[in-house]
Amino acid sequence: MRIDIISLFPAMFAGPFGDSITKRAVAAGLLDIHILNPRQFAYDRHKQVDDAPFGGGSGMVLKPEPFARALSYIRRNTRFTKRRVILLGPGGTVFNQERAKTLAAYEQIILLCGHYEGFDDRVPSQLVDEELSIGDYVLTGGELPAMVVTDAVSRMIPGVLGSEESAPTDSFYDGILGFPQYTRPREYQGTPVPEVLISGDHAKIDAWRREEALRRTWQRRPELLAQAPLSENDRRTLERIKVEENSGL
Ligand code: SAM
Repeated sequence: MRIDIISLFPAMFAGPFGDSITKRAVAAGLLDIHILNPRQFAYDRHKQVDDAPFGGGSGMVLKPEPFARALSYIRRNTRFTKRRVILLGPGGTVFNQERAKTLAAYEQIILLCGHYEGFDDRVPSQLVDEELSIGDYVLTGGELPAMVVTDAVSRMIPGVLGSEESAPTDSFYDGILGFPQYTRPREYQGTPVPEVLISGDHAKIDAWRREEALRRTWQRRPELLAQAPLSENDRRTLERIKVEENSGL
């Protein structure tokens, strides 16, 4: 997959993309990341990408033309049919694991990072396919959101995660939270690892993990259960968990 990021602060990406899974995915040819500064598409003497808001008020608003030209440049120089142009903004649809999975099926995604007071509204209305937010809070710029989207999407590309990392057991992968994990030592400050995990009985371990993932979801994020794809067995387990938890067992 190719990811193009349009950002006024390209240097911010060096750290997060220069390490760990993203770096490995790029080295393996599974991910191709390009960062483009829209300032190089601002043709006036001062290379101006922002201007004062019409109607008055504080701050500066990002002009449409440099972003439109940066997008045209990317479109002219890449030939993908399955492509998605995404603007990062706090007013967008909230990004989640499901969206990460569906975006991973694209050949190319183009991410537009805002700054200052954000974009002139003709950018979201005319130039992009969708607007994504990474949560109900406001950040200084779209760079961190672009890193979040890139990381979450690239984990969903087949082959990006090694055998030691597994997406299907992660939280949200199948709509519920992940199960609790343990490693050595077998006992830490008086708390032993659950006996079943050292039993060697893999069917029992799988059943315990599923049950604990359901328990954790019911305790911490019960609203997820209404949308999660649950089997009949999951539903019976959940009923038992509710009885146990309500009676303090
Ligand atoms: N005035 C804008 C508003 O109230 O919606 C906020 C602008 S914010 C300071 C500057 C840029 O940061 C935005 O254009 C966007 O690209 C990015 N940004 C901030 N918070 C974000 C969030 N929660 N999700 C995605 N992008 C965000």
